[in-house]
Amino acid sequence: MSNISIAIHGGAGTILPDSLTPELERSYKAGLQEALDAGYEALEKGSSAIEAVEASVVSLENCHLFNAGKGSVFTSEGTHEMDASIMSGEDLSAGAVSSVIGVKNPIKLSRLVMEQSNHVFLTGKGAEDFAREMGCDFESKDYFFDELRHKQWLSVRGTDKTQLDHTSLKDEKFGTVGAVALDQYGNIAAATSTGGMTNKKYGRVGDSPMIGAGNYANNKTCAISCTGSGEFFIRAVAAYDVSSLVEHKNMSLHEACKEVVHHRLKKINGDGGLIAVDTRGNICLEFNTEGMYRGQRNAAGLNEVAIFS
Ligand code: ASP
Repeated sequence: MSNISIAIHGGAGTILPDSLTPELERSYKAGLQEALDAGYEALEKGSSAIEAVEASVVSLENCHLFNAGKGSVFTSEGTHEMDASIMSGEDLSAGAVSSVIGVKNPIKLSRLVMEQSNHVFLTGKGAEDFAREMGCDFESKDYFFDELRHKQWLSVRGTDKTQLDHTSLKDEKFGTVGAVALDQYGNIAAATSTGGMTNKKYGRVGDSPMIGAGNYANNKTCAISCTGSGEFFIRAVAAYDVSSLVEHKNMSLHEACKEVVHHRLKKINGDGGLIAVDTRGNICLEFNTEGMYRGQRNAAGLNEVAIFS
């Protein structure tokens, strides 16, 4: 029997039960479940892992609660610059975009870079030109406007502060969305998408679109999508490091995820988490923060979404 599996995340951080109203908690869980189901149903119908992770991430990008696509945070200039990447474990093909403005679903654009261009990583205006050539949907600034994100930005606007994710400045919450999946053909894939940090400037790009840092997939080992303080995940080459520990140190998926999240990232003060899946259908959701928006579902009947630790 096929052991199709999928896991998703919607960001990690100081997410405590009293930081969310019951209503907001319900909304987050509903958004997570919808995204989880979108990917899982694709897998059930025989779609590839790439199609499944794209479907889940599109669902999260279209939900204003998460910092990606529609819910992306504001840059110092009051725009929304988005980053995303996707990778197939079958042949190590990958596509990524950074700093794109107006593109409705950056994850779809990443997949087009992977499948329709000779390149892996396109940025800024060039990536937007490519999106237009490919017929991608664009949205106006209004579409990306969110009251909460706007307030977050106003609280740091004009300063040198940047803020990770979606609540008050004191809280550390990281906002990015991601999915990893195993399909019925035995292939795995990973997808990650983000609006990055509130008030970011100078063309700041985090780990999410960087293959090996915030996103990685290899059928030999595992598929990983990360969320957290991007600068640290880049320095730790976090996603690739998980894969590398499985491949070269013979660690189990869980051992490798724990080593990277609780030791290697922690050692350099990197906060956040990651999700991973391997070709046997093992799923791992690991974070070193108080919470992580997350979900997992598989053919054995596992089907759950969670927020707190
Ligand atoms: N890792 C993302 C970035 O640094 C942010 C996040 O996950 O919250 O852009």
